[in-house]
Amino acid sequence: MDSHFRQILVAESDPHLRQQLSAYLSASGYQVSEASDADEALHLARRECPHFLIASEKLANGNGMELCQRIRESILPHYVYMILLTEQEGDNTRLAGLKSGADDVLPQPWDHEELLWRLWTADRILARERRLSELAMTDALTGIPNRLRFTEALAREFERALRHQAPLSCVLIDLDHFKTINDLHGHAVGDAAIKAVGLLLSSHSRVWDHVCRFGGEEFCVVLPETSAEEAVRWGERMRASITNLDVRAGSGSVNVSASFGVASRDEGTRSVKDMLARADDALRSAKQAGRDRVWHASWRKDAGNHSQGEVARAFDPFADKQARDIMMCPIITLNESDTVATAADYFLRMRVNSLPIVNDVGLLTGIISEKDLMILDLVGDAWKTPVRQVMKTNVVSYEENTPARIVYEFLCRLTIRRVIVVHQGKPVGVISRGSILRWFGNWGEIREYLPREERLASEEFHHRRSKSLLVEWVQRLATQVSELQRTVAMDEFDFVPSVVDHATRIQELTNDLLASTQIHYFAAADSVRGIPPLPVPPVVSSPETPDDASRR
Ligand code: GH3
Ligand code: MG
Ligand code: MG
Repeated sequence: MDSHFRQILVAESDPHLRQQLSAYLSASGYQVSEASDADEALHLARRECPHFLIASEKLANGNGMELCQRIRESILPHYVYMILLTEQEGDNTRLAGLKSGADDVLPQPWDHEELLWRLWTADRILARERRLSELAMTDALTGIPNRLRFTEALAREFERALRHQAPLSCVLIDLDHFKTINDLHGHAVGDAAIKAVGLLLSSHSRVWDHVCRFGGEEFCVVLPETSAEEAVRWGERMRASITNLDVRAGSGSVNVSASFGVASRDEGTRSVKDMLARADDALRSAKQAGRDRVWHASWRKDAGNHSQGEVARAFDPFADKQARDIMMCPIITLNESDTVATAADYFLRMRVNSLPIVNDVGLLTGIISEKDLMILDLVGDAWKTPVRQVMKTNVVSYEENTPARIVYEFLCRLTIRRVIVVHQGKPVGVISRGSILRWFGNWGEIREYLPREERLASEEFHHRRSKSLLVEWVQRLATQVSELQRTVAMDEFDFVPSVVDHATRIQELTNDLLASTQIHYFAAADSVRGIPPLPVPPVVSSPETPDDASRR
C-alpha cells in the first residue's frame, strides 16, 4: 500500500497497548507519536498536527470522544483523520464516537489488517480533502493562497501569538492607481502586474509567513514572530522592490507601486477582527498620505506631529491645488468630423503634436497626434478622412477639481506626457510634464520673495508679489521682442542663428508668463472672495506650449 500521509498520533493510556499499536504502525511505515493521556494528546495534536489520530476511548485525564471533539474545535493547518478505538461493541457507541467528530470507530481489540486498510482508505479521503482545500484556498491568477487561507492563517497565528505572548504582524497591500493601469494598458497587463507582485511577495517571505491575495489588486500577509518595526522594515523592502518590478506593456514597461497598511498585535488588539480593521485603517492612511508608502496602525494620522504636517503643507506646491490650478488653458480642440487635413494644418500652424477631439456636444472623445497622421498614406483622399476614424480613444482625462497632486503623480509614473483636464467631460485645459515643471519653478520663485511671516498669512501680499512678477516677465519679453526686431532689421548675412536664439528665449518667457498668470489668478481668487471661476476664453490657442513640442 502506498500512502501519502504518514504521521500518526496514538493516544492510549495503557502502556502495553500503546507500545503494541505504535510498533505495528511503525513497522508498517508510519511515523508515530505517542500520548499517554488526553491532555498530552491534545497538546501534541495542536503542536504537530498529525495526519491521523488513533485514540482509545478510555484515556487518563478525559476520554477519547472528548479529545476528538476538542481537536475538531481547534484551528489546525489541515484536516486530522481520527479513528476512535472503543471497548464496547454496538451501534450506540459507534454513533456517539462519530458524533464526537471521529471519522471512524473500531472495536478493541483491533484487527491488524483491517486497521491498515482503514488507514489506507483514510489516505484517499485525506488526499482528496487536501486537493479540494488547496483549490478552494488558492488564487487562480497568482497561484498563491487566497483570502480564505489568509483568514484561517491569521486566526491560527493570532491564537498562537496570544498563547505564547509572541509578536505578530499583518500587512494589507493595495496596488496604487490600478484602474488607470488597466485603462491605459489593458487587463492582461494589469493581470501580469498582479502576478508579478504576488510572486515577488511570496518569494521574499519566510516559510512560516503567509502571503495571500486578498482579492482584486490587494494582498495580505501574516508575519508571525514579527514586531511592528520588523514588519514596517519588511514592508519598506517590498514597497521598494515593487517599484522596481519590470512589468512589460508592449515595447515599454508599466510603473507599479503599492501602499502598505501594517498592524501588529498589542494590548489594544483583542481579536483578529480588530487587527484587520487596524491594518485596513493604516492602509487608508498610506493612501491618503500620497500612496507608494508603508503606514503602521500605531502611527497617528497626522504623522504624530502637527507642526511637521503644517511645514510640509506650507512647502507643498500642490497643497489645496486642483487640476484646474495647474493646467494650461485655453485649449484647442477638433471636432470628430474635422478632416485629417484640418488636423495637419493645426499641427503645422500651432506647433503642437497632439489635439483633443470632441463630439458635437463638446465632450472629449479622443486624441489625435502627428504620429497618427504620419502612419496614414497621406495622398489624395486620405486628407479628407474625418479624424474620428484616425483618433485614439484611450485619452487620459481628469475632471478639473481632481487634486493637482494626483495628476502630478500620474505624469511622474507613466510614460504619458500630458493629460486633458475636463469640466463635466468637456476639455478645458491640458497638463503636460512641461507645465508641471514650470509650475514648480514659478511656485518656488514666488515663495522665495515672500517674507516668512507673510508667506503663510498675507494673501494680499502674495497677490501683489505675483502681480509684480507678471510685470517683470512682460518687461523681459518686451526687451527680447525689440532685440529680435533689431536683429531682423539689420539684415546681416548670419542673422538666422540670432533670430532663432531670440525666438527661443521669447518662447520660454511666454511659457513662464502663462504659468505665472495662473498663479496670479489664483492668488487673486484667494484674496478676493466671490471671484468667478477661471474663464475659458473662446480664443483658440496652443493646448501645450511650443517648447513642449520642440523638445520632442
Ligand atoms: P488606489 O490607489 O486608490 O487603490 O486606486 P485604484 O485605481 O487601485 O483603486 P481601487 O483599489 O479601488 O481599484 C482596484 C481596481 O483593480 C479595480 C479593478 O478594475 C482592478 N482589478 C481588480 N481585480 C483585478 C484583476 O484581477 N485583474 C485586473 N487586471 N484588474 C483588477
Ligand atoms: Mg483596491
Ligand atoms: Mg488600488
